[in-house]
Amino acid sequence: MLGLCVLLAGTLGLEAGAFRTVVIDPGHGAGDLGGHYGKVYEKHLALDTSMRLEHYLEASGYRTVMTRRSDVFISLPKRASIGNSHSNSIFVSVHYNYTWKRDVSGLETFYNNSRSKPLAQYVQAEMLKRVRCVNRGVKYARYYVIRNAKNPAILVECGFVSNRRERNRMKKAGYRDDMARGIAEGIAKYQLARRSGRVR
Ligand SMILES: [Zn+2]
Repeated sequence: MLGLCVLLAGTLGLEAGAFRTVVIDPGHGAGDLGGHYGKVYEKHLALDTSMRLEHYLEASGYRTVMTRRSDVFISLPKRASIGNSHSNSIFVSVHYNYTWKRDVSGLETFYNNSRSKPLAQYVQAEMLKRVRCVNRGVKYARYYVIRNAKNPAILVECGFVSNRRERNRMKKAGYRDDMARGIAEGIAKYQLARRSGRVR
């Protein structure tokens, strides 16, 4: 049986445990601005960061799928169904945060089930290596796109639009690029863990 399994894995061109596709979901779009302050809109920050993430993942050999590539409205069920239509994939929803408490800042990553938690942990850790930010941690949440995902799925919050210091940072391309690199590096570490069988 072992011989057959090795043969099948070879035929697929993919090691056991590995995934091939990353579905990238830039939050919000069109009339749904997301968090905003002045002319700084979450929907724009999320799309820009997502396209940078797409670039880094493709450079690493992943297949990528974007739920949107322009300023359009995509419903939450549609986003989830795009994710679920790709087998052997993971789902990463990219957002920027907002709260009425102006002094709150930092990065956080959400998951909805135990299978997705390691992905959230790797991505959160690698983002924090790229930028000096408050670590708000990895948390369980019931957001639609991660709750309705069949594959490992996370929702990443790349800083608070409502916090003046973070808002000034996220306006710069370099910060959004650091976020994208951090997320891509977290995905790479998660892939290694999947390949080695440490997570499934
Ligand atoms: Zn959002």
